Amino acid sequence: MSFENLGLRPEILAGIAAEGYTIPTPIQEQAIPVILAGKDILAGAQTGTGKTAAFTLTLLQYLSTTHLNPRGKAPRALVLAPTRELAAQVAESIRNYGKGLGIRSTVIFGGVGMMPQIQRLQKGVEIVVGTPGRLLDLVGQQKLDLSQIEVLILDEADRMLDMGFIHDIRKIIRLVPPKRQTLFFSATYSREIKALSDTILFKPERVEVARENTAAENVDQTVYHVPKSVKRDALSHLITDGKWEQVLVFTKTKHGANRLAQQLNRDGITATAIHGNKSQSARTRALEDFKDNKVCALVATDIAARGLDIDRLSYVVNYELPHVAEDYVHRIGRTGRAGASGEAISLVCPDETKLLHAIERLLKKDIPVSKIEGMSHAPRVEVLPIMPHLRGDDSRGARKPFAAKGRGSRAGGNSGSYRSGGGGRSSSEDGYRSGGRDSSEGGYRSGGRSSEGGYRSGGRSNPNASSRGTSNGGGQGRRSSARV
Ligand code: AMP
Repeated sequence: MSFENLGLRPEILAGIAAEGYTIPTPIQEQAIPVILAGKDILAGAQTGTGKTAAFTLTLLQYLSTTHLNPRGKAPRALVLAPTRELAAQVAESIRNYGKGLGIRSTVIFGGVGMMPQIQRLQKGVEIVVGTPGRLLDLVGQQKLDLSQIEVLILDEADRMLDMGFIHDIRKIIRLVPPKRQTLFFSATYSREIKALSDTILFKPERVEVARENTAAENVDQTVYHVPKSVKRDALSHLITDGKWEQVLVFTKTKHGANRLAQQLNRDGITATAIHGNKSQSARTRALEDFKDNKVCALVATDIAARGLDIDRLSYVVNYELPHVAEDYVHRIGRTGRAGASGEAISLVCPDETKLLHAIERLLKKDIPVSKIEGMSHAPRVEVLPIMPHLRGDDSRGARKPFAAKGRGSRAGGNSGSYRSGGGGRSSSEDGYRSGGRDSSEGGYRSGGRSSEGGYRSGGRSNPNASSRGTSNGGGQGRRSSARV
C-alpha cells in the first residue's frame, strides 16, 4: 500500500513526501480511507503508530476540498488533546503537512497568556487544537465559537479521562453540532472509554493497530535491580558508558525530576527537567533543547511527557517505576516510535518490586533482568558542604563503578522505519513490510480483535443519530449531506 493509493490529493502527498514518509503505517492504511469516506472512527492506536498523521492528513484534505458553505471565522475542526505538549505537537503536524494549502490553524492551552490566542481566533482559523480547560474558558468568554465544527477529533482520549477531563469533554460535545464527523483515538479501551465513545460516535468503524496495554514490541525492555541509593550512579554510568546522546528519564515526582537533573549535571551529563510546575515557556525550551541535542537527558514526570514525540529517541529510563502500570506502557512508548527500535530500562529497587509485578501482569510477560556489573560498589555518600573532609576521592565523572553487561551503545544509530533518508538505515532494511516484520509479529497489529471485547460498537444510544442521517445521498462524498 502506498500513500498514492489512499485517495489523498497531490498537495498532501507532496507534504508527506517532504516529511520523508514512504509508506503509510498500519493505522494510516486502515484509518485514512475510512475517514475520507466521512465515517466516524474508533481507533485503538498507541502513540508512535503514526495516528496523528492519520487524522491530520485526512482533516486537511477535507477542509481544503470543501468550501461549500463558507462560515466566516468560526473554526470548522476541533482537535482535543490531553496535554499542552501533545496539543502543540498536533498543531505542528497540521502546519507541516498543510503547507501550501492555506488552512489556518491555532493551538490553545492553559499556562500561557490568553490574549495572543484570542487575537489569533479573531483573525479566523479553520482548525483549533487545544486542551479542554482553556478551550472552555475561551468559549465562556465568547472568544471561541464551536457551533460550526464539522470534524471533532479526540486524541489520546484515555489520557484525557485519566486526567479528569470527562466533564469538560462532555461540555464541549454539547457545544459542537450533532451533525459532524468524530474521530476518536485511544490507546486503551476501558469501560469509561466505551461509555464515552458510545455516546459521541455515530456508527463508528473500528480500527485497531496494537493490543491495548501492550508495549510496542520493537522496544527492548530491561530491568536492572539496584538499591535506591545507587540508582543515580547506575544511571550516570549507563549514559556515559553507553555513550548515549539522548535519554528520556522518568521520575515519580516533580521535585525528584528537578533534583535528578541537577545531580546529572553535576555528574557532567547535561540534563534538564520538564514537569507541570514549570512555566509553559520553560517546558517548551526544555523540550526544544532536548530535541536539538543541546541536553542529553530530559528528566520528566508522566504528565509532562505524555504524548511527547521525539524523533529517533533511543533510550527511555524509568528511574522510578510509575504507580500506575499503564503509565509504564506510555513511558516506554516514547521510544520505538513508528517502527524504529528503542530501549527501555527500568532501575528497580526493592521497594518497587510490587510495582514491577503489576507492570509485568499488565504486559502478560516478565521483563528481562540484566545486571550492571560492580554492584558491590558502595552507594554514593551525599556529602554536605559542611563536612568537606568526607568528600574523599568521590570524583564524579572519573568514577565508573558499573559496566553494563551486553548492552552496546546505540547512540545515533536508530532511525524510523517508515521514513526515508536522514536516519542511517535504508528503508529496505527496516520498512514494515520489507524488514521481516510482518504485521503478525509486529506491535502494529491490525484487525483481529473485533470479537474480543476490543473496539466494539453497538448498543449505543446516540443522541446525534437521528439528526445525522445520510439522507441526501451525497454527491459530494463524505459529509455532504450531514454536515454542510
Ligand atoms: P504519532 O503516533 O502520531 O505520535 O507518530 C509517531 C511518529 O511517526 C512521528 O514522529 C511521525 O513523524 C512519524 N510518522 C508518522 N507517519 C509516518 C510514516 N508514514 N512514515 C514514517 N514516519 C511516520
